[in-house]
Amino acid sequence: MVEFVGVSDIVALVGRFGVEAILTEMADYIEADYRRWPEFEKTPRLASHSSDGVIELMPASDGKLFSFKYVNGHPKNTAVGLQTVTAFGVLSDVDTGYPVFMSEMTLLTALRTAAMSALAAKLLARPESRTMAIIGLGAQSEFQALAFKTILGIKAVKAFDTDPAAARKFAANMAESGIEVEIAADAASAVLGVDIVTTVTADKAKATILSDNMIGAGIHINAVGGDCPGKTELQADILMRGKVFVELTEQTRIEGEIQQMPADFPVTELWEVIAGAAEGRNSSDQITIFDSVGFAIEDFSALRLLRDLARRAGLDRSIDLVANPADPRDLFGLLRADAPEALPVGA
Ligand code: NAD
Repeated sequence: MVEFVGVSDIVALVGRFGVEAILTEMADYIEADYRRWPEFEKTPRLASHSSDGVIELMPASDGKLFSFKYVNGHPKNTAVGLQTVTAFGVLSDVDTGYPVFMSEMTLLTALRTAAMSALAAKLLARPESRTMAIIGLGAQSEFQALAFKTILGIKAVKAFDTDPAAARKFAANMAESGIEVEIAADAASAVLGVDIVTTVTADKAKATILSDNMIGAGIHINAVGGDCPGKTELQADILMRGKVFVELTEQTRIEGEIQQMPADFPVTELWEVIAGAAEGRNSSDQITIFDSVGFAIEDFSALRLLRDLARRAGLDRSIDLVANPADPRDLFGLLRADAPEALPVGA
């Protein structure tokens, strides 16, 4: 049997431990795994593109555990009542190759992306940062706001979405959060005077959510929504003015904001800052940019944390994902009508 966490289970776990405590612990797990970056087998994700979206497989291994996530990105989905991003994932034991844990990862991806964004901002933003803009108020947005409140101490968010219904939803969901929310009339007024800007829009296009003239000295930009070839959010001039930080360079050059730049455009990998091997922000008026696309080690960390939370909560759920005949070479024996595993058809 394989330990399993489904959607209702993760909702229960968030209810039990609290979303802010989970975001904090998620950032700690990611930071711990990023610190041992050289121990991981790393590869850019495998992406299958279609006209309206992408389906991706994201593997990582530290030699003991292997993980993969299946995730899609379909910006037009919301128009027909479906989510832009859905996901599930698996942890396996490297010694036997057996899957040992399987989980929903749609909610988990929102939690891990927000925790990763806040972790990067903790390293790169000016320490006195207390205000933030969020452009794009879809599925990821509330998680982002809560992670920045919990991990950085952000007190006020100016928020903008082209769709007023998304803005109303965001404001309603944040009403009890302790964050002061102001809905802005456009992106330019949202970013005016804030310390940090998160862009988390969904459009399979080279969009310009932020242009150079909107960005003042000292801002930290958390660019989350540009995560596919042909899908960007920042004007290239911003990248030239700022210092750019990435997850796995090889993957980000294909998928991130820096796909707009020459192949030798200088970037710093975030793990190097975490491990003390590279500098983060160099001065208080420097513009720092986290060119986030989402990397497999973050999902590895998220799955590890979720398994630990499920065990801590005594959640005892498993699924029979792996055939397990008493005689491992008698796989065919499982198909006999008198095999203990045999159930009546339709049961
Ligand atoms: P979503 O479809 O639920 O929300 C996107 C929102 O952006 C919508 O409300 C839409 O109205 C708004 N929007 C689109 N164009 C805009 C514009 N020009 N100005 C302002 N708002 C605009 O999507 P989501 O699940 O919240 O994901 C958002 C983006 O983040 C997607 O592109 C997704 O692929 C990406 N993502 C990245 C990571 C990562 O690790 N980097 C992880 C998860 C999702």
